[in-house]
Amino acid sequence: MRPVESIRSPGPVDRRYHPVALYLALAGKAIAAILWWFAAQRTPAAWCFFAPDIFVLHALFAPAGQGLCRVHTRFATSRREVWLTIDDGPDEHDTPRILDLLDHHGARATFFVVGERADRHPQLIEAIVRRGHGIGHHTHTHPAATFWCATPARLAAELDLTLATLARAGVRPSWFRAPVGIKHLLLHRALARRELTYVGWSIRSGDCWLRAPEALAARVIPALHPGAIILVHEGPAVPAPVRVAGIARLLEELHRAGYTCVLPRADQLR
Ligand SMILES: [Zn+2]
Repeated sequence: MRPVESIRSPGPVDRRYHPVALYLALAGKAIAAILWWFAAQRTPAAWCFFAPDIFVLHALFAPAGQGLCRVHTRFATSRREVWLTIDDGPDEHDTPRILDLLDHHGARATFFVVGERADRHPQLIEAIVRRGHGIGHHTHTHPAATFWCATPARLAAELDLTLATLARAGVRPSWFRAPVGIKHLLLHRALARRELTYVGWSIRSGDCWLRAPEALAARVIPALHPGAIILVHEGPAVPAPVRVAGIARLLEELHRAGYTCVLPRADQLR
């Protein structure tokens, strides 16, 4: 196992970023309180109170929504390069097979792992790193329905437990992705404190709803562009006919289209 620092890519945590949607909502509520007491009409106060929430809701629930934390959705490159990101592992059935496929195609990928699954399979984390791939942080328990409304303590636990799990395997991740791309009001500050950078995607494969492996490539290939971040999944959430086989077909089609799967540097992220 290599030492922690050599595995880590130097992530640019943008400390100058401001969660403007959050500030706007708070300012709107403060102005609304003043108007409520001093204005003759109550309607402007109601508008000020609720209208900025539209920006907050968009930033929270739209996977590429900006305004709560900086969401990177592509990387700068002039070559036919893409970033393949594989969420929801590690999985003892899928991960070894996916690693073999990646080796076969000379492709590199980042596995956005769920902490409690990494806890159960530290040997898979070690194998991912040893074979030249990256590890991203995808929360500890993958609370897809409740991450956005987690208490600050729960948010901290989701982040810190996985960091501790990965540290035991000698890995310090730089990238974070929320379950199903739904964020949290306090995510920017929580990630910045832990030197994690939020990574979204350019192309969602939709593999969890597909029925045939070729459907995955059929969705991704028409949307390809240099610097695209492709989202696929591993594990039981993917229907059985598409599990691993969908990624196999995608790697073949990417090769045919002249695309290489690379791990971008932090300064390439956009
Ligand atoms: Zn996920």
